[in-house]
Amino acid sequence: MTRTRPGKALAHRFVAGEKLDEAVIVASGLNADGMKVSLDLLGEEVHDAVSARAACDEYLACLDRIAEEELDANISVKLTQLGLSIDEGLAVESIGRLSDRAEEMGTTVTIDMEDSRYTDATVRIYEKVQTDRGNLGVAIQAYMRRTPDDLQRLIGLGGHIRLCKGAYVEPEEVALTSKSEVDAAFANQLRTLMNATTTAPAVATHDQGLIDLTRTLASRREGYFEFQMLYGVRTTLQAELVAAGYPLRVYLPFGSQWYPYLTRRLAERPANAWFFARAAFGN
Ligand SMILES: Cc1cc2nc3c(=O)[nH]c(=O)nc-3n(C[C@H](O)[C@H](O)[C@H](O)COP(=O)(O)OP(=O)(O)OC[C@H]3O[C@@H](n4cnc5c(N)ncnc54)[C@H](O)[C@@H]3O)c2cc1C
Repeated sequence: MTRTRPGKALAHRFVAGEKLDEAVIVASGLNADGMKVSLDLLGEEVHDAVSARAACDEYLACLDRIAEEELDANISVKLTQLGLSIDEGLAVESIGRLSDRAEEMGTTVTIDMEDSRYTDATVRIYEKVQTDRGNLGVAIQAYMRRTPDDLQRLIGLGGHIRLCKGAYVEPEEVALTSKSEVDAAFANQLRTLMNATTTAPAVATHDQGLIDLTRTLASRREGYFEFQMLYGVRTTLQAELVAAGYPLRVYLPFGSQWYPYLTRRLAERPANAWFFARAAFGN
């Protein structure tokens, strides 16, 4: 990994490596431990069509490897990495290509949710491509004030909806900002999703209270749902959930563009800066 040594050392805690080969090795190990995987090629905010097409090609190669290695894995994609901020049509075309290849490989594609500049387009594109293809999922952020309406709009489309708290700094007009409000919104949206028969909820949190609530709701649910957690975060809890028989998918990032991802993980848990400091002093 490029950039400074401490950043690199910390990145290894949360990122599989820079190359697809490294991600495949880590994914195989997670599968052997009973965990599903979502491979995320790091990258966002691509500003030229050549880079956007290259990212799509890399994801196609990733899907090929998932099939060759018989991994229990899907892919997670950011629309700005596929060119959303320069040409919405290009992003739609690329997500369609990925969806088609994933269908051939018997797997799915999840669209990550980015910051609020892109929420409207992401919901619109998901709605269109999921209606056409049927093997997509989308992340929905509990902190967004618009989310209850988006859930009503998307919940009937099949596919999977990944409920997460939201990782970007947003203005108060568009997003809840206090932890208690975000947690309460997550709990309400979780109830809606776990009661729905038309979607497969993916509960993406490391929050003990919300995991306990999910387990309670799961005991009354007939259809599929899964837990999702980030690679390197609360790994003991991940193993405990698998041992208890719950499906769990690990979000596994790889690639050279790890810096923005790492910055968001640090913001979520300032204690992670301790690992950064230790690495800086060579421990
Ligand atoms: C699978 C997955 C996919 C995601 N996809 C998106 C997406 O598409 N868009 C988006 O905006 N956000 C996404 N997120 C991030 C999410 O929005 C939150 O920012 C992040 O998960 C932290 O919230 P939390 O629910 O874990 O609860 P928190 O209240 O933040 O954390 C609960 C506990 O989990 C542990 N923890 C949480 N984060 C960390 C960390 N980084 N390092 C170490 N320990 C930690 C701590 O013990 C903490 O007390 C995703 C998260 C997951 C798990």
